[in-house]
Amino acid sequence: MKLHHGKHHQTYVDNLNKATAAFPGLQNFTIEQLLSDLDVLDPSIRQAVINHGGGHANHSLYWQIMAPPADQKPEGKLLAALNSTFGDFTKFQEQFTAKAMALFGSGWVFLTKTPQGKLNLKRHSFQNSPLSTGNTPLLTIDVWEHAYYLKYQNRRAEYITAWWHVVNWNKVSELFERS
Ligand code: MN
Repeated sequence: MKLHHGKHHQTYVDNLNKATAAFPGLQNFTIEQLLSDLDVLDPSIRQAVINHGGGHANHSLYWQIMAPPADQKPEGKLLAALNSTFGDFTKFQEQFTAKAMALFGSGWVFLTKTPQGKLNLKRHSFQNSPLSTGNTPLLTIDVWEHAYYLKYQNRRAEYITAWWHVVNWNKVSELFERS
């Protein structure tokens, strides 16, 4: 986790700063604003913002939606929305895990909320952010190999199982109710 945060995530931040250095006006933008309106960006830096800005935003969410092992479970409005969308919490977990297992190459799986308030499961390659399609990411797992290779080598399933134990459902609920 230290290496993942201090080296991998940091590199995205550094490269985003480098890419946008020639456009001082962008320094006032939040990362959410940058990724939500890619059309306003100069074409010469658009892909760099998608890659490195997405890398920064996705990792920032990933750190926030984890907490020390507490085996939290979703409650309240979020649980009701998960139940009505996926059947029940177990079915939601199964579908999310299946998407994370089936993702080919490097990417992320997201639980997102549409502007209409609908929950969706989305698989994104590389660092593409749900913010760029107008959706709010609520929960995410990093399934790039760098996220699990040091501890689990190629055993992605074990990493995903361990990750479920540290999901910070309080934070996910907060994001759900705020968006
Ligand atoms: Mn990562």
